[in-house]
Amino acid sequence: MNDPAKDESVWTYLKSRGVSRRDFMKFCAATAATLALPSPFIVRIAEALDRKQRPSVVWLEFQDCAGNTEAMLRASKPTIEQLVLDVISLDYHETIMVPAGKQAEKSLADVVKNKKGKYIAIVEGSIPLKDGGVYCCVGGRSAIDIAREVCGNAFVTLAVGSCAAWGGIPSANPNPTGAVGVKEAVPGITVVNLPGCPENVENITATIVHYLTFGTLPPLDSRNRPYFAHGKRIHDNCERRAHYDAGQFVREWGDEGHRRGWCLYEMGCKGPEAYLNCPSIKYNEGTSWPVQGGHGCIACAADNNWDKMSPFYKRLPNVPGFGVEATADKIGVRLAVATAAGIATHGIIRATKAKKGRREENTEQKRTTEAQQGGIDHDKDSD
Ligand code: SF4
Repeated sequence: MNDPAKDESVWTYLKSRGVSRRDFMKFCAATAATLALPSPFIVRIAEALDRKQRPSVVWLEFQDCAGNTEAMLRASKPTIEQLVLDVISLDYHETIMVPAGKQAEKSLADVVKNKKGKYIAIVEGSIPLKDGGVYCCVGGRSAIDIAREVCGNAFVTLAVGSCAAWGGIPSANPNPTGAVGVKEAVPGITVVNLPGCPENVENITATIVHYLTFGTLPPLDSRNRPYFAHGKRIHDNCERRAHYDAGQFVREWGDEGHRRGWCLYEMGCKGPEAYLNCPSIKYNEGTSWPVQGGHGCIACAADNNWDKMSPFYKRLPNVPGFGVEATADKIGVRLAVATAAGIATHGIIRATKAKKGRREENTEQKRTTEAQQGGIDHDKDSD
């Protein structure tokens, strides 16, 4: 991992590794697209990468399945070896680094000591806090201890994957290890949350390239997620959306609708409540994503989705399952109108009943008075 060429600019380094200018520009174009930037920014990104040195990155793994690492190793545009790892100087990564044991620990300690405040920490996996953090230890140190030191001295920490962002599956009820996300474990540090299961490596690269190009982190929402990745609802960009609007739903796995690519809402798709750019950037070289592959979205990037969004195969409540040529938003408005109308109708019925009741009361009173006066036969009236 200790690369003597790390002081070169990103482009100089890539060129020395045999990357063509065409492939480099393709990468810049793909990154601009991920960042939702218009085409003039392709040149700006290229210019920045022409000048900027590769930032030093350390990648920590805590309570995780290494799914984000796996996703990164499958990155493309053009390949992981040529670009994604080369845009950064990956100085520590337990799964793929060459050094082991004490040597590996030294690699991490060197970065923290020599590049204080200048390196990027990437965290994958949640951090257990229960019982002093004993449920996840690396090299004899607890995850929380390592995170405090490494993330606390980093320029920024990228919490990649839902476990690092919110606690993910280890934090699902009953959360036996007291697992939390990085921001909760180490308050006060600068964190960019990149949740997903796994997070798309193109969002990680785009976040870093945004920093290299503009000198700032991309705009973040109130939960520290970049808008470019989490600003849009999956349902609004889904290729099956036209079928939702047309009321064409898969009702059973393998049925005619499933074979024809209809909407998976009835099969439990959580796309109407999920915010991520999966439909536009997809996975595995832009090949596909779960909904395109025929499985509903499980809102993997949502906070606590294992508890809040399950059962995954049950239809979302409160969103009607049909709506010919209607958007979910319109349906929402319709629901609100219907509810308001329902309330109004209920009010009218109550008022009418009350009025009727009062009228009957008056009539009864009148009859009683008349009867008392000896003028009306009650038995006759009851016919
Ligand atoms: Fe796509 Fe799911 Fe929305 Fe259907 S409900 S349009 S499958 S995101």
